Amino acid sequence: MARILITSAIPYINGIKHLGNLVGSQLPADLFARFNRAMGHEVMFICATDEHGTPAELAAAKAGKPVEEYCAEMHEVQKKLAEGFRLSFDHFGRSSSQRNHRLTQHFAGKLAENGFIEEVVEKQVFSIDDNRFLPDRYITGTCPNCGYEAARGDQCENCTKQLDPTDLINPRSSISGSTNLEVRETKHLYLKQRALKDKLEAWIDSKTDWPILTTSIAKKWLNDGDGLQDRGITRDLYWGIPVKKGDQPWPGMEGKVFYVWFDAPIEYIAGTAEWADAHGLDDAAWERWWRTDKGAADVTYYQFMGKDNVPFHTLSFPATILGSGEPWKLVDYLKSFNYLNYDGGQFSTSQGRGVFMDQALSILPADYWRWWLLSHAPESSDSEFTWENFQTSVNKDLADVLGNFVSRVTKFAVSKFGNQVPAGGEFGPLETALIADLGARIADYTRFMEQMEVRKAAAELRAIWVIGNEYLQSAAPWSVVKTDPEQAQAIVRLSLNLIRVYAVLSAPFIPDAAATMMQAVGSEDWTWPADIPAAMRTLAPGHAFTVPENLFRKITDEERADWQARFSGIRA
Ligand SMILES: [Zn+2]
Repeated sequence: MARILITSAIPYINGIKHLGNLVGSQLPADLFARFNRAMGHEVMFICATDEHGTPAELAAAKAGKPVEEYCAEMHEVQKKLAEGFRLSFDHFGRSSSQRNHRLTQHFAGKLAENGFIEEVVEKQVFSIDDNRFLPDRYITGTCPNCGYEAARGDQCENCTKQLDPTDLINPRSSISGSTNLEVRETKHLYLKQRALKDKLEAWIDSKTDWPILTTSIAKKWLNDGDGLQDRGITRDLYWGIPVKKGDQPWPGMEGKVFYVWFDAPIEYIAGTAEWADAHGLDDAAWERWWRTDKGAADVTYYQFMGKDNVPFHTLSFPATILGSGEPWKLVDYLKSFNYLNYDGGQFSTSQGRGVFMDQALSILPADYWRWWLLSHAPESSDSEFTWENFQTSVNKDLADVLGNFVSRVTKFAVSKFGNQVPAGGEFGPLETALIADLGARIADYTRFMEQMEVRKAAAELRAIWVIGNEYLQSAAPWSVVKTDPEQAQAIVRLSLNLIRVYAVLSAPFIPDAAATMMQAVGSEDWTWPADIPAAMRTLAPGHAFTVPENLFRKITDEERADWQARFSGIRA
């Protein structure tokens, strides 16, 4: 039994995520967690909401709520949606937790102790009417290059010129519109990533089994242009983790908070500590997942994320850990994803384009979405959601192949032999061939799942469903029963056992349908099938079963057209 630590990139708090976000981190992480639990491994699967920063403050202001209240509410909304999609986190934490406050301050203190923090005085725009410093992108003005009047302080989106806020003509606050601005001096902490560059590069070079997508992004940031840069890790904001050096005050940094990118990944660790707290366990319970000196030496740590998050996870967060000089667990394998596009364009949170998690669950159960998203995961390149493809995939894979098999077998069995596994006959050449074929395919499926080859695993699972249907077609118990009822009983017995095996194999992808299948065959044996001949005899003659409700319904052309129109533009 192995010990597997899994974290999914943590979703930002300011709104409901779309399906592209879901398939880029949380959903494949869940697939992997469920698979490893099924294999009998000890799994810790952590996610959380990422709650700090200006966008959270602005979203709260827009909602007319204090930011603490807004984040608490949105955390609950995201938590419920995660449950709706059956994301099996051991804990869904909050980056604003006291655990994260203490750990973030601890890491900053250690980094300072080890000489990896620099205090820098810089000039920043202060809005007198808003009574706050303004981040670059919250200052608007006229572009000195092209004259565009709504240029942002970091970049003009009209001519794409990179800007400094002080370059803007007639600058104003994007928050209040106030022009009552002045440049003030402010002190910030910088993480000296350049000083850690060699260590980081050696560590990344040692990861020869990582996907090219991951290492190429990391190497680009390490070496392109001027190479890896030091990064500011503090902000002049109200909402965040107060800057402290461990548990001590940090002179000159009063009233400032850590920048959200610094504290967010530390929440992976803090979230595990929150898990321990929630279960009334002591620090040793979570430290054995994270501290190699306290039991985590045998842990393998996997991270899941979209490609935009790779730089933070290959450079910034490891810099924090390496720079601390303490034996914290570094990621062992990082699985990154490309983007999922939507129906000829992009998903857009700001424009409300695409299907969002709450909307998806309001029209179909989680399994339909899980199956489509995972079987089309954007692994080697971007992929695209289209309603036609979704309809085809659901109707063919789920309804025609898997659902139909389960329905035909159970209905036929009950009508001919009653609601118990029939005892007659022996497995013949057709059954032997099926068992051999299954064995080879399940071995491939298991290997793809271990390797986190999501699409290949989905294709193999579908192929496993297909060979069951093909077997049923060739064995034709509905004909055989007329001439050789004993043999028909053997066919039905094998097919009922196959439903249990399908439940086990399918559970990581479609957990609800898997539970329905398992319940129908009256078993609780979720053992991963390694010995196929034995697995085909698990349900013994006389064992009771029932006919389940239809596992999947088909999507009609009318529904498809309706949804396509409904989700084409601005979110209502
Ligand atoms: Zn411009």
